Amino acid sequence: MNFTIQNVLIATHDAYTTVDVQVVDGKITAIAPHLDVVGAAFDGTNKLLLPGFINAHTHSSEMWQRGAIPPLPLELWLAELYEFAPLDLEKVYLSALGTAVETLLSGGTSVVDHLVLIPGQEVETIATATRAYREVGIRAFIAPLIQDESLTAGIPSGESQQTHEPYFRSTVATLEFIEEVVKQFHRPDEGVSILVAPTGIQLCSDALFTGCIELSDRYNLCRHSHLLETKAQEKLAQEKYGCTAVEHLKRIGYLGDRTSLAHCVWLSDADIAILAKTQSTVVHNPLSNLRLGSGIAPILKYRQAGVNVTFGCDGASSNDSQDLLEAIKIGSILHNITDLDYQHWITPRQAVEMATLGGAKGLNMGDKLGSLSVGKQADLVLYDLKNLSLLPRTDPIGLLVLGRPTNVVDSAWVSGKQIVANGKVNTINVENLQQELFNHSQWDTQRQSQTVAQIEAHYRTVMGLPTRDLGYS
Ligand SMILES: [Zn+2]
Repeated sequence: MNFTIQNVLIATHDAYTTVDVQVVDGKITAIAPHLDVVGAAFDGTNKLLLPGFINAHTHSSEMWQRGAIPPLPLELWLAELYEFAPLDLEKVYLSALGTAVETLLSGGTSVVDHLVLIPGQEVETIATATRAYREVGIRAFIAPLIQDESLTAGIPSGESQQTHEPYFRSTVATLEFIEEVVKQFHRPDEGVSILVAPTGIQLCSDALFTGCIELSDRYNLCRHSHLLETKAQEKLAQEKYGCTAVEHLKRIGYLGDRTSLAHCVWLSDADIAILAKTQSTVVHNPLSNLRLGSGIAPILKYRQAGVNVTFGCDGASSNDSQDLLEAIKIGSILHNITDLDYQHWITPRQAVEMATLGGAKGLNMGDKLGSLSVGKQADLVLYDLKNLSLLPRTDPIGLLVLGRPTNVVDSAWVSGKQIVANGKVNTINVENLQQELFNHSQWDTQRQSQTVAQIEAHYRTVMGLPTRDLGYS
């Protein structure tokens, strides 16, 4: 898969230049004007070339409920999500395809799928998602979502004594199947990596975290988790550990330069210093944080403290799409209201660097991905600068990030393999995918969640919200 993109616009430190980019055996081998054509020639005239973005946190199968869940905070939203999640392998397959396609068509070439597993079919779920991502050709980081405590344990007890059902699978059994999955599917050289990924402190024991640390060390796996997404989780950490969740994770050794942590909304200044010191990565999911009312993550503080930050869409039922350009836009301008000093605000170029190199660093691939550099993998995206939403001609990256880019991706390559051409994913039949998504779903306008009804009163009490008019006790 050798090729040369000719006359293409790329960003320099603070301007743009027109060059040819040569790719041999999946890697960038030269970037300069007027190169000899090696392999196929692509005309890059009036197009902008960027490294592919990394969708650094999502849950693909949530696609089946996007748009359906009413405005609820995370803890209640999760209750509804799980109640209406009758997943099967066919759905897992289709939603992984859909997630990959939407990520690609919004500039992403990698996806971190914190994958919800079908109980009893855990390995099959991972096999199915792997198959889907391989078919599309997107670079996949599959982070099987594991926990060893039942859902209600994720809500702080407050003054009350709460008991929780034991989780249906033991910690040991969970760690065993993760190890099996690593042996079967972890193939970084082929574009599929497995991450260890306990869902978060709210539903996981120390034994699960430490078991994951051991697997991560033994098989050189990256680590992923949710972290302090909500105010309720901040309270829960104090109840559970008597310290903050970040202090606890540091104590047990989960943090580090190949650990990426989704959300990080409710961190103290001391916590932020810990993330910087341990070189952990924050995955900012602004749309999900807004949608669930979780709060505004202190991203400007992270950047000033030297914490690596990147972007994710989060699952499609808390977003409710997988448009990375939208996440990058909101995830950068949202913070302008948090700091009067505009010199701290995120520029479009900084946002692009966070979405590319920032994502790569969090996956321990900063030396292989995330920038247009000779020797790096050719995970590339070519944007059509004659698209209506990128006109008139101003600053291409400024408009790509701050505008409302629509169908702007002309081509995309992963490890030098072209998987988007002329604005269309060319590795799978997307029209078939649309038909299958349609066939496997129903318009859904009437549903009522029983689980939300059961736990809402407790949630409101613990969170200090009025409970008078709920209609149930
Ligand atoms: Zn998530």
